[in-house]
Amino acid sequence: MIERGEVAFGTTGRNHCLLHSGGRYCVTDQESAIECIDENLILRRIMPDLLELNDGLFVAVTESDLAFKERFLEGCAACHIPAHEVTVARALAMEPFLNPTILAAIQIPDGVFEPFRFCLSFLATALKNGATVRTFTEVTDFVCSDRNPTGVKIRDFRTGKTETIGGDIIVNAAGPWAGEIAAKAGVSVPEVPTAGVMVALDCRLNNMVLNRLNKPSDGDIVVPQRATSVIGTTSWKVEDPDLITIPPEHVERMISQGEKLIPTVRRVPMRAKMAVARPLIAMTGTDARELSRTFECFDHARDGVNGFVTITGGKTTTARAMAERVSDIVCQKLNHKAECRTREVPLTSYRFFFERQNVLKRRALAQLQTSDRPNIGFEERT
Ligand SMILES: Cc1cc2nc3c(=O)[nH]c(=O)nc-3n(C[C@H](O)[C@H](O)[C@H](O)COP(=O)(O)OP(=O)(O)OC[C@H]3O[C@@H](n4cnc5c(N)ncnc54)[C@H](O)[C@@H]3O)c2cc1C
Repeated sequence: MIERGEVAFGTTGRNHCLLHSGGRYCVTDQESAIECIDENLILRRIMPDLLELNDGLFVAVTESDLAFKERFLEGCAACHIPAHEVTVARALAMEPFLNPTILAAIQIPDGVFEPFRFCLSFLATALKNGATVRTFTEVTDFVCSDRNPTGVKIRDFRTGKTETIGGDIIVNAAGPWAGEIAAKAGVSVPEVPTAGVMVALDCRLNNMVLNRLNKPSDGDIVVPQRATSVIGTTSWKVEDPDLITIPPEHVERMISQGEKLIPTVRRVPMRAKMAVARPLIAMTGTDARELSRTFECFDHARDGVNGFVTITGGKTTTARAMAERVSDIVCQKLNHKAECRTREVPLTSYRFFFERQNVLKRRALAQLQTSDRPNIGFEERT
């Protein structure tokens, strides 16, 4: 696994951290809603320590939200998302900062994940099963035989060294950079990097995820994350996921929409404003907000390029399902028969990742000690 930054350096480490129940997409994007609720239930089993399971409320702030209620409940039923209406009094008792003029509230099994440990636990499990993880290492190019990739050229940012590593199959899981990586291998991927702005407040105002009871739109969700409440988000197409300029009006929109859910929002100091790009699957003539949040795996054998597969789209909530899909395709291509077990097997603790990294560091330091370089005071500890 080659990652040009730290673990969770890309979109996964910088997003809204909502463990989707699927409620957000149950009317407009049911394929994605079903993926979300299925994975929400699986992740509760395989990574229980990394999730905050406080549920979510979809609340009607306006008459138009209220008119959406029946469609929302039908959508939840169609996507097997458990949903039940709670009284306004109950909603306000659970969430005291919620707008007291709300007209209805529906409780669904949303949650919150911690993105860094989320990634670490997948990587720790992979390490335990024999993977090698190279962080701060960038893929700069492909090595090909005819048009078929047989390896990648990489550069380690810490040492400045470049090298080539081979692979029977190379998987491109570069999120919003997947198109850039695919282009290096001479193929294209129908992906649109689509940015979104989030505003973190310097106070945690809600414990449940608060959503507007309507179609997904700007600033209609407030997610509690550690000591903050994070309002999100907007959606616009960008050329380069590394160069996103935050439009000031998007920040104001987060506040003005967010205060419809939690009126005190404007009075709380802003802790951060941030933006990051989603890897969404392109559909011609579709507005960024309307693009599906589902995922796809592209076997580039269809483009006449063998040994190269791209997985993209989706949500962090559906990351495990994306990995299952791409692993199945890789196994099929390698003629390797094995059942995917990640639905059932709990992930290894994220702590194992650091233990393992420490073993490697200890080895490197021990080498330093025995070389001509000065002793840097390292002591082996068990
Ligand atoms: C504003 C916003 C809010 C969101 N909120 C949520 C949410 O609340 N819940 C949810 O489930 N989903 C959410 N999403 C969606 C989710 O963040 C993405 O779908 C997901 O993070 C994509 O994961 P990924 O692994 O495909 O991409 P990434 O996490 O971006 O991983 C790709 C990695 O590839 C690396 N890379 C790129 N180029 C190279 C190279 N040349 N060499 C080596 N490495 C390279 C990058 O550094 C990066 O770490 C949100 C998205 C946005 C934009």
